[in-house]
Amino acid sequence: MVFVVILLGAPGAGKGTQAERLAQRSSLPHVSTGDLFRANLSEGTELGKTAKTYMEAGNLVPDEIVLGMLFDRVAQPDCHEGYLLDGFPRTLPQAEAFDSKLDAGTNLVVFNLAVSDATIVKRAAGRLLCKACGNIQHAEFSPPKKDGVCDRCGGELHQRADDRPEVVRERLSVYHAETAPLVRHYENKGVLVSIDGERAPDEVFQDLDSRLEEHCQEGGPEARV
Ligand code: AMP
Repeated sequence: MVFVVILLGAPGAGKGTQAERLAQRSSLPHVSTGDLFRANLSEGTELGKTAKTYMEAGNLVPDEIVLGMLFDRVAQPDCHEGYLLDGFPRTLPQAEAFDSKLDAGTNLVVFNLAVSDATIVKRAAGRLLCKACGNIQHAEFSPPKKDGVCDRCGGELHQRADDRPEVVRERLSVYHAETAPLVRHYENKGVLVSIDGERAPDEVFQDLDSRLEEHCQEGGPEARV
């Protein structure tokens, strides 16, 4: 049976950080549409060039582009038994297109990382991303030992162009209009688990980890689509 974990949450809610840790813990591949776009961007592909204009303005990349890229990715052999989605779906049409592609009996669980807008703005302002390995640090909450240098691989840390305050505000308003309705969508399917994302990353992870464990143990029909 295919096992799919979705992490929902506003930009900066901690999806990337938590998804990476959960993926290690569960051995599921971590599939981040934002990372896939950034990889295309740095490789200079046509897809990357198209996505860039949307990303830098804080807008969503059109559904058909995201869906094509995502379906290609999850068709790879490493995803045959399951995967963990971070940053997808972000609109109702994406969720519906994805739902309809899932095999009957797929075990689906959706975690919503609930974080206030005020926290999001504060987090994004200090977020630092490693250009080399994708590690996420934070100027205040996980400061690098050496300024501008990734603790994990020694690569260069930088602020994402879309983490500038004016872009974050735009991303938040897009989130409330387009992505927040997905909470209700998955609640109605009986697969939503809400997680308080305001806490420190370790606490959030422990919560997620034990909820995932519980979910795997229960694994009843209500946990399937
Ligand atoms: P993220 O790293 O998840 O914050 O994504 C960075 C940016 O990539 C977003 O602000 C969007 O412009 C684009 N993006 C990522 N995932 C999606 C998606 N599922 N739908 C539309 N745009 C996306």
